[in-house]
Amino acid sequence: MTTVAAYAAPAAKAPLERTTIERRAVREFDVLIDIKFAGICHSDIHQAREGWGEAIFPMVPGHEIAGIVSEVGPGVTRFRVGDRVGVGCLVDSCRECESCKAGEEQYCTGGSVGTYNAVGKDGGPTYGGYSEKVVVDENFVVRIPEGVALDEAAPLLCAGITLYSPLKHWNAGPGKKVAIVGLGGLGHMGVKIAHALGAEVTVLSQSLRKQEDGLKLGADHYYATSDPKTFEELAGTFDLIVSTVSAPLDFSAYLSLLKRDGALVNVGAPEEPISLNLFSVIGGRKTLAGSMIGGIAETQEMLDFCAEHGFGAEIELIRADEINEAYERVLASDVRYRFVIDTATI
Ligand SMILES: [Zn+2]
Ligand SMILES: [Zn+2]
Repeated sequence: MTTVAAYAAPAAKAPLERTTIERRAVREFDVLIDIKFAGICHSDIHQAREGWGEAIFPMVPGHEIAGIVSEVGPGVTRFRVGDRVGVGCLVDSCRECESCKAGEEQYCTGGSVGTYNAVGKDGGPTYGGYSEKVVVDENFVVRIPEGVALDEAAPLLCAGITLYSPLKHWNAGPGKKVAIVGLGGLGHMGVKIAHALGAEVTVLSQSLRKQEDGLKLGADHYYATSDPKTFEELAGTFDLIVSTVSAPLDFSAYLSLLKRDGALVNVGAPEEPISLNLFSVIGGRKTLAGSMIGGIAETQEMLDFCAEHGFGAEIELIRADEINEAYERVLASDVRYRFVIDTATI
C-alpha cells in the first residue's frame, strides 16, 4: 500500500478537502500512474452531493485522468515506465459477458467497476483522479498520443468518448447533417469531433451567447432553441442529433428536426421520466436513443483520432484548492469548457 494525497468529499454535500488515501500495491497486471491532470465532470458533482442516490464516503471523485506510468507489474505487456496514459470512467469489468467480449465494457452486465464511488473486486472502495497516484489494471488504461497535450487530454477520457461513441455508432461523417444540443463540456467535444469526422455541424443552444465559440470550435451553423422560428426553419434537417443536456427537452420538437430514419441520441438525461407522443417517432421511422461513454478500445481509438486531428478539450486549468469554487461554476454553466485540476497542487 502507498499513502497518497487526494482531495475528497468527507460526506454528502460537504466541501472537498485535502486528505490522504491508500493505493494498493502494484499487482501482476497493474500500472501505477503518477496523475498529472484530472478533469472535473458534472457527474463528479452529482455523486459528491449524492444527487444520484447513496454514495460511498469519503469520496475522491475524478474519472478524467491523465498521467505518466511510474511502475508496472511483472505481467504488464502494454505499458512501460514513462508512458503517457489515461484512465476514464471504468477500472474493471466482468470481462466475460457479451458486452465485455464485444469491447463494450461500459455496458457490462456482469458488474463493471467505476473509477470512484464504487467497490473494487478486492472489496475496497475505488478512489478517483483528484489525487497524486492511482493503480489500475493495464486493460483499463489507454495511451495518450504525443499529438495532444496531457492537460487537454484529460477531459477526453469522459467528455470526449461520451460524444465520440454515438457519433461513430450513428455514422456521423461527410454528407451527414449533425446537430449537437448544448455547448458545455460535452457539447463542445461533440462539435470538435463531429467536425473532424467531416459532418456538417449545427449547434442548438438555448441562446446565441456562445455562438462565436461554437463556430470557432468547428460548427457550421448555430441556432437558439429559445427562438420558436428555429424549429420551423430546421424541420426535417438532421440525420443525427446528439443531446448533451440533462434539462427536460420537448422531445417531440427535437424529433421533428430529424430526416426520415434520423436518430436523436441522449447522452444526458433529465431526472424525471419523460412523456412522449409516439407518433413523433412512427412518422419518419425515427429513433430515440441513448449512449453511455464508450469501451476501452474505442476510447483508445478516440484519443488517436483527436491526436491525429491535433485537438484536445478547451480547458481552464485550476489548483486543487479551487475545486469547490469550480463546482459552483460548473453548476452555473460558467466554464469554457472544462475545468482541469493540476494535481501537482494537491
Ligand atoms: Zn464524466
Ligand atoms: Zn461484462
